[in-house]
Amino acid sequence: MNIILCAKQVVDVAEIKIDPATKKPVLAGVPQKISDMDKNALEEAIKIKEKHGGKITVVTVGAPDAKERMRELLAMGADEGVLLTQPPQTDYHMIAHLLAGAIKKIGSYDIILCGEASIDMFSGQIGPRLAGLLNIPQITYAQQITVEPTKVVSEKNLGEKSVTMESPFPVLLTVTKESNQPRLPSLMAILASSNKPIHEWSTTDIVSQTLQPKVQTLDVKGIPMQRKNIIFQDDLDQSVGKLVNELAKVGVLR
Ligand SMILES: Cc1cc2nc3c(=O)[nH]c(=O)nc-3n(C[C@H](O)[C@H](O)[C@H](O)COP(=O)(O)OP(=O)(O)OC[C@H]3O[C@@H](n4cnc5c(N)ncnc54)[C@H](O)[C@@H]3O)c2cc1C
Repeated sequence: MNIILCAKQVVDVAEIKIDPATKKPVLAGVPQKISDMDKNALEEAIKIKEKHGGKITVVTVGAPDAKERMRELLAMGADEGVLLTQPPQTDYHMIAHLLAGAIKKIGSYDIILCGEASIDMFSGQIGPRLAGLLNIPQITYAQQITVEPTKVVSEKNLGEKSVTMESPFPVLLTVTKESNQPRLPSLMAILASSNKPIHEWSTTDIVSQTLQPKVQTLDVKGIPMQRKNIIFQDDLDQSVGKLVNELAKVGVLR
């Protein structure tokens, strides 16, 4: 199995503070990380590789420092990385074209895995756009993935029903957060990851036409959370009763 994982470096959204005056997110000093669902997707890739053999290549379009975060994925179990240096202004159309170009250059692939969405922009567009550009089938929101000799079978949970789908290779799947618990690499694996290759490609190696963003992000503002700070200090039974009433009042419970 040749597996390609698309992984995005993002700001750690849990660490972002909002400037109370401007409502703008304060990004200075916020650490970067690999988007959570991309680690779920890697965990699925590793499980497939453990069972069927093969190779996992991570592809990232990002800033040069994304290389450091890629090492984490190599330590978890990916075999090599491709880092495409990101142009200054991007949008979904550009990122999807760059990933498609990089994947075409890699050449051989059976499965492409993406997260269901990134934790920062959360559009969920890149996987489906990429499958469209590569003209391959896609299965979105995969929670269980089983690889059989000629096909992939995937199950997704839609709350009140689960849906099982299958597709021949090559196929792109987007993976949900609920699919698994990504493994933590051992110290030995972290040390060994420094010997795994990361290839750095520039966008001109990948696409001949000049890519321009079609969508501009005009503004990003934090939405302040209004907390009620209601504290119940009676004995436990009374407090639970009051909590239930309060939740019912705001429509959380019926
Ligand atoms: C450094 C930086 C600068 C940016 N500048 C702009 C800007 O100027 N204007 C603007 O409108 N937007 C900008 N963006 C946002 C960018 O266009 C979007 O993040 C991008 O289109 C992906 O959309 P998304 O995060 O909603 O991905 P989703 O579609 O939610 O992501 C789904 C999955 O697609 C894959 N994926 C997504 N992005 C990448 C990636 N970069 N590399 C590898 N895999 C990926 C991952 O598997 C991910 O889990 C910038 C982003 C970055 C990182």
